[in-house]
Amino acid sequence: MPSRVKINPLSSSLTSSLRGSKTLGRSLLDILLPPEHSFGRDNDRLDWSKFTFLDDPCCHLCGFPFEFDQGSGAICGACAGRTPIFDQGRAAFAYDEHSRPYILAFKHGGRTIHLDRFARQLQRAGHLFWNDADMIIPVPLHHSRLIKRRFNQAALLARALSKHTSVPFAPEILYRHKATPSQGGQSQKGRFRNVKGAFTIPDAIKNTLENKTIILIDDVMTTGATIEACTKTLKRGGAQKVYALTLSRVVRAQQIPT
Ligand SMILES: [Zn+2]
Repeated sequence: MPSRVKINPLSSSLTSSLRGSKTLGRSLLDILLPPEHSFGRDNDRLDWSKFTFLDDPCCHLCGFPFEFDQGSGAICGACAGRTPIFDQGRAAFAYDEHSRPYILAFKHGGRTIHLDRFARQLQRAGHLFWNDADMIIPVPLHHSRLIKRRFNQAALLARALSKHTSVPFAPEILYRHKATPSQGGQSQKGRFRNVKGAFTIPDAIKNTLENKTIILIDDVMTTGATIEACTKTLKRGGAQKVYALTLSRVVRAQQIPT
């Protein structure tokens, strides 16, 4: 069992309210994050050369990459058809055959040796967000999956990113109370249905979100269903803005710029 780690307090009031929260038990927090060391081989090199990094020009809202600069504020076809619930989204690189093995090794194989490099990429991709960000919140796992996997990869990324940006890390805010089947292999509609109502905010800490700007972290964005479900919960909880920042995202060719 990993040893207990220190969680950055957001404020003394939040810390005290968390102390009294019955929603999250100590045992759950104990396995939320592994200890402060990396798993992996020393010679386990990360070859960035084949990665497709995502940067400007891109959709103002979701960060979908454009081949040419479309002008300030241009949005992609998907966002024109359906405006995302989050205020803006960005990803560090494309989720493809080159990046996928690293993500899967990190997520399912516990290979955290590249965590700090991943966090630096998140910092780069989210550079627009740091000025007005109040807290960094990871997409949570349901406790049954957390016990099985022993750590939440999104929480690891969020904690490392917090160290680089000095924006407080707040893993206690968002809670996944519904165990949902894996999103893999599901249709787009199925993915949205799957995570509907899956997230909640413990009553004891709801007030801490009022007028706050949140950076929501995940490892991969595919359809955006999980990010949207989390965003909806955070906004209902009082958050003013939610920026979605993921390490990678699926880039589909049919997103035509408008
Ligand atoms: Zn877009």
